[in-house]
Formats: sequence, structure tokens, C-alpha cells
Amino acid sequence: MPFSSYRRWPFPRHQPLPLLPSSVKQKLSPRLRKPRRTPPLISYLLNNLTVLAVIIALLFFFFTLFLFVSPSPRSSRALGTPGSYRTRSVKQRNLNGSVSAASFDITTKELYDKIDFKDEDGGAWKQGWNVTYQGNEWDGERLKVFVVPHSHNDPGWKLTIEEYYETQSRQILDTIVESLSQDTRRKFIWEEMSYLERWWRDASESRRESFTNLLKNGQLEIVGGGWVMNDEANSHYYAIIEQMMEGNMWLNDTFGIIPKNSWSIDPFGYSPTMAYILRRMGFENMLIQRTHYELKKELARHKNLEYIWRQSWDAEDSTDILVHMMPFYFYDIPHTCGPDPAICCQFDFARTQGFSYEMCPWRQNPVETIPENVEERALLLLDQYRKKSTLYRTNTLLVPLGDDFRYVTVNEAEAQFRNYQLLFDYINSNPSLNAEVKFGTLDDYFSTLREEADRINYSRPDERGSAIIRGFPSLAGDFFTYADREDDYWSGYYVSRPFFKAVDRVLESTLRATEMMMSLLLAYCRKAQCEKLPLGFSYKLTAARRNLALFQHHDGVTGTAKDHVVQDYGLRMHTSLRDLEIFMSKGIEALLGVRHGHDKLDQTPSQFESEPVRSKYDAQPIHKVIGVAEGTARSVFFFNPLEQTREEVVMVIVDKPNVNVFNSNWTCIQSQVSPELRHQKSQIFTGRHRLHFKVSVPAMGVQTYYVTGGSSKCANAQSAKLKYLTNSSSAVSCPVPYVCTEMGETVEIKNGHQLLTFDTQSGLLKRISHINGFETVVEERIGMYSSFGSGAYLFKPTGEAEPIIQPGRTILISEGPLMQEIYSYPETRLVNSPISHSTRLYNSGAGSIQEFVIEKEYHVELTGPEYNDKELIVQFQTDVHNNRTFYSDLNGFQMSRREYYDKIPLQGNYYPMPSQAFIQGSNGRRFSVHTRQSLGAASHKDGLLEIMLDRRLSQDDNRGLGQGVMDNHAMNVVFHILIESNTSATSSPVTNPLPLVPSFLSHRAGSSAPEIFSTEW
Ligand SMILES: [Zn+2]
Repeated sequence: MPFSSYRRWPFPRHQPLPLLPSSVKQKLSPRLRKPRRTPPLISYLLNNLTVLAVIIALLFFFFTLFLFVSPSPRSSRALGTPGSYRTRSVKQRNLNGSVSAASFDITTKELYDKIDFKDEDGGAWKQGWNVTYQGNEWDGERLKVFVVPHSHNDPGWKLTIEEYYETQSRQILDTIVESLSQDTRRKFIWEEMSYLERWWRDASESRRESFTNLLKNGQLEIVGGGWVMNDEANSHYYAIIEQMMEGNMWLNDTFGIIPKNSWSIDPFGYSPTMAYILRRMGFENMLIQRTHYELKKELARHKNLEYIWRQSWDAEDSTDILVHMMPFYFYDIPHTCGPDPAICCQFDFARTQGFSYEMCPWRQNPVETIPENVEERALLLLDQYRKKSTLYRTNTLLVPLGDDFRYVTVNEAEAQFRNYQLLFDYINSNPSLNAEVKFGTLDDYFSTLREEADRINYSRPDERGSAIIRGFPSLAGDFFTYADREDDYWSGYYVSRPFFKAVDRVLESTLRATEMMMSLLLAYCRKAQCEKLPLGFSYKLTAARRNLALFQHHDGVTGTAKDHVVQDYGLRMHTSLRDLEIFMSKGIEALLGVRHGHDKLDQTPSQFESEPVRSKYDAQPIHKVIGVAEGTARSVFFFNPLEQTREEVVMVIVDKPNVNVFNSNWTCIQSQVSPELRHQKSQIFTGRHRLHFKVSVPAMGVQTYYVTGGSSKCANAQSAKLKYLTNSSSAVSCPVPYVCTEMGETVEIKNGHQLLTFDTQSGLLKRISHINGFETVVEERIGMYSSFGSGAYLFKPTGEAEPIIQPGRTILISEGPLMQEIYSYPETRLVNSPISHSTRLYNSGAGSIQEFVIEKEYHVELTGPEYNDKELIVQFQTDVHNNRTFYSDLNGFQMSRREYYDKIPLQGNYYPMPSQAFIQGSNGRRFSVHTRQSLGAASHKDGLLEIMLDRRLSQDDNRGLGQGVMDNHAMNVVFHILIESNTSATSSPVTNPLPLVPSFLSHRAGSSAPEIFSTEW
């Protein structure tokens, strides 16, 4: 494992933890130490992990609930009041009836309403306009330009992180140290801690010292400080916090630094959740780049590219953070010096002979700066700076100077630094130009910007702004779905490589469960003197956090890396999952006191095994088969890392049907067996059996159940009654010992709360009838888009999705006391059906939310060439009149309102669905779908909610990846569907511009599955 040298544990738990290596600690100047506002907190955190992990878990839960249920924020602001700005309030009624008022100058919804999305040709600045200025704009306040050198290092994309490190990133960091040490006027910023930590391990003592000195004297700034620059569409807030913490903890441990400026130039769209997390982590300023080109243009027109981002629920402005949005197409040098890329490209001095970068596509290449041409070149560049400056309110200007994996060699860095310094010297020595240009860090830029905004009031008369800094508008909303040009919307990556998007979430919940168990063990082991197990595991826990953090990279969880890089991410996650499961197996043994000799626990294998068995990084986990011989028993343990008791029907696989289940008191409990099914047209039965029984597992606790083979003390598990319907050539033969009957004309399943009616031809859902009498039409459809131009990033359908299900099917109903299921292997117009699906209802009893949930499980296999350039979707056409407006979550943290715009193509109306989406009608009826992995969703017809399940693409979509997405894997997608009715809703969701929040029930319906372990007894 590449990360094994870093150990978070073991720390002496009752001694203050040194935050810096002693050799570095003494040398840091006050400037470096100044931003360390929280060392006592960090020290406390590290010293009290046991107790804190439990407290944080509780806080997480309550905090999340709080946000989901009540959008009104806590009053924790010490930033002053907004003053006498005119307030444009939007009032929202909470579920509990209280009214909160949040107000903003701009919302992204208003921008969408206003913009025509015509993509008019703007000339040199193709997506803007012909920028002009009078020349006297800088007479009063001179132009202050900060040119910020940077190198964008993807931790995996076309190469793996290790391949990039060896071939480029290592040299880049060496080059930075060497080039900056030559001249104190040179500056640089660095973002990715995954590379910096890797380099730091290899660096010589003298290189380390030089690097530290550059940080100390302000030539080098660490921005963001995350392990990676995370994706913001598919990533869950838990994983974002993990990846930010992993990088920032290392940074603080190593240098004592806490960054306050965030730099996010490459993620494909931006979420306000990230702004919220950054603000709560103490960041003051953030920079973003990839937003829809029409929104950039509209914001630039009104000098609103710098704004205060505020959460849509925040009535007290406690979430405000200053944002700089870059104005142009891309973050490379041609698109950052000013509006004309043909001119800016001439100032990318690495695009000359002798370096390996492509020449300027505009055919005017850079020329070396010499005394004879310096005036002409400097004025040409200054003209671009001035034009760019007119797009912003202040006369402080940011000009990034870099690109992907730049500054590889000292010669390359010299070419940039040398030429620019000559140009700067010329401009700065001519006072009549009213300009000062120099290299700067992001901190140099924001400090000067804030100083100017403080000195000169740029506030508009009717602008509300923010109390944290005046002169900028406040904005609420998100920046999805991103388009960089024409109709090229980046909604494909919401779904690309869905198999690994699912693994990501499993790793998150397993890591969380492991952290909970670690806390419990440390509390327990302190007494029992068995600290070796948790402490010995600490480096693997760190590796797991880092592997999860790495995958949050904007080419990781997005599914936009090359095949072998996806494999690298997959293997890392797989390795960590295995490690975590083994640790938890041993942890359960220690907690239950099953084995003694505690100090050997970390070396000897566990007799417990995790129930899902992962054989390969790219294979679906399979259920471990519990073999129960006559007269013997197997123990099954359930670990509940959540903060509330879980009462639910669970499933394990057994090798024979005549078994019994006992609880931990050896009391018989009810159970059910039904055949295990698989996605295989000719033989849907595996020969094994699914055993369902109801468990009750206490909060953060372990519960034991026993499966025995034919005990005479209690009745055997009840066999499900099977009904089938098939007209396929290979008729279903009834498996032993079940009783099978032919299905009648109606295809239904029901529990105490709802009755589901299905189409007899397809086995697809048609209607949901509730016990209280109301019915909801939910017509389920499965279809495929054909696409031309779709790739890993882009979704470009050629028309509407076509239904693929045809008459002729295999439908099997399993009916038992605990679980009812309809399974369908449909006929399709393709040789092999790419999908089969189950719909389930549970009888889990009072106190369980499982009874209210409809469980859908789709088995998806887009694994052959016949699915090339196809994108598989499921639609739910309901009678909930939502007028094509739906709600989807942002990072599992908050909801966003999504309205369909005809002026935008379908692909631009697709949005991320990291954990749920719902539609709601004016009568208060709500239809929600909860997912265990991120996908994409849309509502392009009244009453419709469409979700994409997988996509297979033979072509590259011209965004640099250089390949399609053909490495599809068989996978299962699980949805929890809820119908709710909020008859007390006061305003129509169709007209209410604010997002609605999920109910308590909805929040719990999305919970993950408990961790299951089994052993021989
Ligand atoms: Zn990138």
C-alpha cells in the first residue's frame, strides 16, 4: 500500500500531541503560524477520539436531520448584521410550521428564467461579447494584477496517481521548489495533498526545508488542502468531509497550516454544499471555474462573477462565503489572461519549440520577450488584463497561469517566470499605465481584493450583499448542469461507471461502521488491555480513508478516467473494504468476548466472516451461503452503526429450506424461505434459498441470531408460495419444496399498508393503492436512449428514450408472511435482456419503517456490444401533477428544485441524484425515489420521474479522455420508493421557487443496510 507510512494512531492519549515535527516546528515564522486558529481543538480531537467519535456520530445524525427537516439555521453568527440593505425576502414554511426568511440578490433559478440560452457568437470571446473600455477606468484606482502560477495535477485520469507521480508530479514539485528559490518575486499555489504527501515522503531533507521556507515566506500557498479536488455532483457530504479532513490533517500535522482559500478549477459543476462545508471549516474565499457558459456571461454582464454564496435556507447569513468565478471557457493560459484566447495563448511560453506542449491552435505562437519587443508585448497583454478587469467590480484582477501537469522541468518554469517578469517590469516602470502586475498567490489576490472592497464601496443601491464583506451580491443556488459549449451538457458523468459509484457508497458506510466499532473497542479495550487490535489496524484505517478520499477526485467518482485508472481506484477501494470487514469481524469477537488472549487478536484470523463476500474488485459481492447441517446452529451477528434501533426484515442465504431461526435468548422467531433468483433467462433459480427474518438491533450495538438445521423446538421457516407466469421457451420448473401455481389475471402483492398492481405482460409496476383508500398511478417503464456524441462526460441523446420491454416474459411471485416479491425477467427487443427486476414489500411490524417502503431492485448488465451507445433508463409515470418540476439532493445534504426548461435540451435538464429525487403535486402528494448510489434524474413530462441506470459508449466525447465507456459491469441498483401525502402543504411546490425538504420518514427510508457477519457456532 502506498500510504502505509503515515499513522494517525497510535498517539499517547493523555499527552498533548505535537502538531509539528520538531524540526519544522521551531522554524516557522509568525506568518505561518498565524492561521492556526484551532490547534487546541485538533489536539483535543486527537486525544479524545474515542468519546468524540461517538459524539460526532450523534451530532451528524441530529445535524443532518435538522437540516433536512428544518431549513431554518441555527443562530451562530458573530459577523454583525446586514445593515440597511433593501431586503428581498423569500418566506418558507417549515414542516413544523415556523416561518424562516432567507434573502438573496441573485438565485440561479432567476438566472435560468431570464437567460435565453441562445449561444450567440461573441467574437474573440466566443461565449461572451466584444469587451471594450474607455481607458480612464483605472485613473482613480490603478489596476492591480496578480498572476497566479499553478499546475493542475489530477490524482488519476489518463494515468493512475502513481504513474502521474512518477512521470510528472514528482518533477513538478521539485521544479517549484527549485524555481521559486531562485527569485523571491516568484509565487505558486498547490492544491492536491495526495501528491504533496507522496512527494514529501520521497523528498530529501534539504528539499523539505526549501519547501517549508517557501511556505513560510509566502511564495507558496497551499489552497484547499484536500486530499484531492473533489467532484461535487456525485460525492456524498460524508466523503467530502473525509477527503478534506484527510488532506488538511496531514497538512496541519506536517506544516501547521490551515488554508483559508479554496481552488476548484476543474470539477464539472458546483454545489452549495461544498461552499457550506468550506465555510464551516473556516475557509474565507473560494474559486470556481466550470459553470454554464451562459450563466458566466449573464453574471459577467452585471459584474456579478464575484459574489457571496449563501445557502438557500439561511435566514441569518451565517453561511456566507466569498466566491470568485472565472469568466472564460477553460482554466488554461489561453482562456485566463483575457477574453481573446488567440492573444492569451501567445503568453503561454511553454508552447514554444523545445517543450512538449501543443502549439497555439490560433496559429500565433509565443515569442521570446526581448528589449526590442517588450513594449509591444506588454501592452498587448495589459490590454487583455484591462478587458478582463471590466468584468469585475474591483480593480484587483486575478490571472491564473498554468494548465494540467505544467511546470514539469526547470527550463519550462524558467520560460514562464523569466518572460513574465520582463513584461511586469515594463508595465510597472511606466506609471502612466496605471497598473501594477506581479506574481501572486490566491491569498495575495483575495487580501488585496478585500482591502480594496473595504476602502471603496462597490455596493449597488438596492443590493442586500453580505455583512462579511461589502460590495458583492449574495447568491443562492447551485451550478448544475454544466455546459462548456453549444449543447454539450455534462450530465453523462452523473451515471458513468455506476458500478464504482455504488462501491464508493459501500466503502463510505463500511468506513463509518468501522470507525464506530473502533470507538467502541477503544472504550472497551481500555479496560480489557486489548488495545493492539484497534491500534494495529490504524494504518489500514488511514489507507481506507485515503482510498475513499482519492476516489472523490473529479475523475474518480465521476467515472471519467481511463479503464486502467478505474481499475486502480476499484482495487484500492476493494482492498480497503476487505481490510475493514476483517477488522470488524475481529472487533465483534473482541466485543462479544468470544475469544480471549486479546493481544493475539490482531494476528490470528477471525472465525467470523462478513456476509457479503467480495471476490474481485469488479464483481458484485455475493451472499455468503450459510450451510446448516441437521442438529447444528450458525450464529449470525448484526452490527448497527446508526444511532437508532433498527427493526427490519433481513435476508441471508441458506443452502437448504428446512431451517429455524432463534434470537439471542434462544426463543423461536418467525422466518420465511423463498428461492434465490438470478439474472438468467433459462434458469432463474440458483438452487439456494433466501431466509428472511425480522431483527431488532440496538443503536450502535451488536445483536446475535441463530440459524439452526431442523430444530424440533419450533416450526421450520415458512416456505413462500410461488406463482409464475411464463411463455418463454424454457418453462419455469417449480423448485423443491415450494408449491407453485399458475398466476391468475391480476398480478398483485400487498402488505398492511399498500397493495401494488403490476402489468401482466411486463411485470412492471402500474399502481399503488394505500390502505386509507387513495391510489397513485405509477406506471413503470424501462427504455434506452440512443446517443451520438455521448461519452464519459457528456450525455447527447439523439431523441427520446425508446421502450425496450416487449410482450413475453417470466414473472414469479413469492408470497410469504414477511416478504412479498414480484420478479420479472422481461422479453426485450435485444437478444439478452439488459435488465431484470424485483419489487418487494415487507411485513416488518409496528415500529418499522420498512413496511412503508417499496423496494425495487434492478439487475443491470450492459455488458455486450449490442448495447453500444445506449443509455438505460427507468421511468415512473405518475398521476402526481408536478408540471415537470422535481427535487433532487445535493451531496445527500440538502435538496435542490429542478424545473424543466424547453429552451435547454433534454441533457441539460438532467440533474445529479446522489441519494434521492421526488416529485410533488399541488395536492401535497409526493412520490420519492431513494437510491444507494449516485445516478442522474430528469422530469421531462408532467408526472414523470426518469432515472438513468447505466450507459455504454463506444466514442470519446472530446474532453481529453480519449476513450468511451465500455467497461460496464453487472450490478444491482436498489431504490426505496415512498408515496407520501402532506395535505397541510400551504404553497404549491410547482410555483414555490424554494426547494422542499424530505420528511422524517423519507430520511430514514434512505438508510443503508446493517453490517452482517456470520460464524459457525
Ligand atoms: Zn482535473
